[in-house]
Amino acid sequence: MSQIIDLVTRLEAATLAYYNGLPLMSDSAFDLLRDELVKLDPSHPFLKRVGAAPLAGGGWPKVKHEIPMGSQNKAQSEVELTDWVGKVPVANRLFTVTEKMDGISLELSYLNGKLVRGATRGDGEIGEDITRNVMLMQGVVRQLPATFLVGGVPIPMPVKVNVRAEIVVTHTDFEQFFKGDSNPRNSASGTAKRQSDPAKCKYLTAVAYQLILEGNACVSKAQELRLLASLGFKVVGWHHDLDQQGVQAVYDEYVKTKRDALDYDIDGLIIEVQDRDAREAMGVHDGRPKGSVAYKFPHEAKATILRAIRWQVGSSGRLTPVAEFDPVNLAGANVKQASLHNISYIDELARQAGQQVLVVGDKILVSRRNDVIPYVEEVLEAVDYDGDENDPNVFHTPKVCPVCGSALQRDGEYLMCSGKDACPAQVIGTIRRWIQKIGVKHFGDSLVELLCESGRVKTIADIYRLDVSDVAIMDMGGRRVGGTADKAFHNLRAPAAMELPLHVFVGSLGINMIGRSMAQTIVEAGFDSLDKMTRATPAQIAAIPGVGQTKADAFVDGFWDLLDRGVITDLLGVGLRIQKPKTGVLSGKSYCFTGFRDDTLEKAIEAQGGTIKSGVSKSLTVLVTKEANSTSGKAQTARKYGTEVIGVDEMWQRVGGKP
Ligand SMILES: [Zn+2]
Repeated sequence: MSQIIDLVTRLEAATLAYYNGLPLMSDSAFDLLRDELVKLDPSHPFLKRVGAAPLAGGGWPKVKHEIPMGSQNKAQSEVELTDWVGKVPVANRLFTVTEKMDGISLELSYLNGKLVRGATRGDGEIGEDITRNVMLMQGVVRQLPATFLVGGVPIPMPVKVNVRAEIVVTHTDFEQFFKGDSNPRNSASGTAKRQSDPAKCKYLTAVAYQLILEGNACVSKAQELRLLASLGFKVVGWHHDLDQQGVQAVYDEYVKTKRDALDYDIDGLIIEVQDRDAREAMGVHDGRPKGSVAYKFPHEAKATILRAIRWQVGSSGRLTPVAEFDPVNLAGANVKQASLHNISYIDELARQAGQQVLVVGDKILVSRRNDVIPYVEEVLEAVDYDGDENDPNVFHTPKVCPVCGSALQRDGEYLMCSGKDACPAQVIGTIRRWIQKIGVKHFGDSLVELLCESGRVKTIADIYRLDVSDVAIMDMGGRRVGGTADKAFHNLRAPAAMELPLHVFVGSLGINMIGRSMAQTIVEAGFDSLDKMTRATPAQIAAIPGVGQTKADAFVDGFWDLLDRGVITDLLGVGLRIQKPKTGVLSGKSYCFTGFRDDTLEKAIEAQGGTIKSGVSKSLTVLVTKEANSTSGKAQTARKYGTEVIGVDEMWQRVGGKP
């Protein structure tokens, strides 16, 4: 047995040296040792590992973890923590709390005190052997002492020792050596597994959180962490002897201040039953130990300073307050502004901080909800407001539109600019949406802005009155739009773009809550001309399935507003036409294709009055499938609804045969 250990130790050391570019022995000497091991123990894991040909074929050798690196159950709230604590035997409700590092999990394996392998977690069972890179990292102990102390008693170092750690980039190193990377975690994962040029691995740090000793010398987590530190490892921050209340207090402290003060990123705390035997007695479920839980932080949130509130005017005239603050890195992105939604939300933020208003210099907590949407969570420290109405640092609700100076109207939680066509923000938004919805290619936002800024475009109809030569003489403001403007105007005036289906026409004008598909629903219900729409009452529209009172009111109000302002008449005046409603044998019926696309067939159906839908719903008339007896998900759903399902050949017959 000891002969095998000796052999493996020498082989491991030779392999390691080889990885480091300092071979200890010739290849043939290595092969001799290896052959000897094959004779003594043909199934030894070392042989599999070396057999995996380090660095060949572009990947790191795969290694199997002796003890799988499982994952943790999670608690996202105090309620969930309480649930978990409830499952711990009452006598064992003393906990150790460790920081949950946000990095790359690593297992360090020691044989006879010598570091022989550093492997990533991988899928928990199989990881990658990145020993060469690990040797360069900070916090990695290469040689363990022959004995260690537990409670003052010297104990010989076991033959096998495993240390689990997390590879991170400290903020200090990130600032200095990883400028331009999105966040420390990405830097850590990208660098740790680099195959060429591993030099940057010296700016990575391995922070240890678990010690696995043969013979289980440590009776508590605290003892284990102290021992790790005494062996020279950099160890995660930890707290112990805590009851549930104590755990919560530590957690709250991290959320408020402590987390931001750390030199590395953590995304939660690991709460473990302190007594090792009790913890292990709780067992494992689905690879997750029941005796510990990851208590995650609410969202990644950072403190920053509020600098401004900008009021953004949308195409509907609605003002949205946007907070601007000193940039913070959150979930991999630099964030410097976030919507404050509406006046009530601003009032709420101020009120919770015991203030009446928000003030430049307020310290705010910013997160990214679901790691995506920037969000101002709360005011952490408010700058005192002395009540001076004219203090330029105080944010007051605007009285007039910041873009056009028109009066503002309150609409529930929102402020609306009353400027309509006189408000450039609304004009730009309205025209941009029109161009997008009716689908004019090459007519970009910058061209729309240029046209609006020129002062010659105040309504949608105005763009049809312009000529490309008008654009050529506009002040280009240094922007080159000439070439694309040519194409854009050509596309705008293309015959197909001048004749729009009614639902596209009405659904692109920006009526609140009425897009093209809602407009189509209204058209299909029989309001299939501008004239019929003009005569529609809210009650009639509300009675259409899928519309409802709110949208019906919005439609009728919005439609009449467009009529009153002459928008519709103007558009017809510049030559836009509404397509005649198609009548034919398929009139009033709807069709959806699945498993294939066929533009010709779509056009043939539309030419006979049918409409094309993108999905299966209860109102769909026919689902057309590639094969007549399709059993696809859509086909099954359609049959469940009682919708007719036919093959593509049958569909062609119904429109008069394939051309
Ligand atoms: Zn305005």
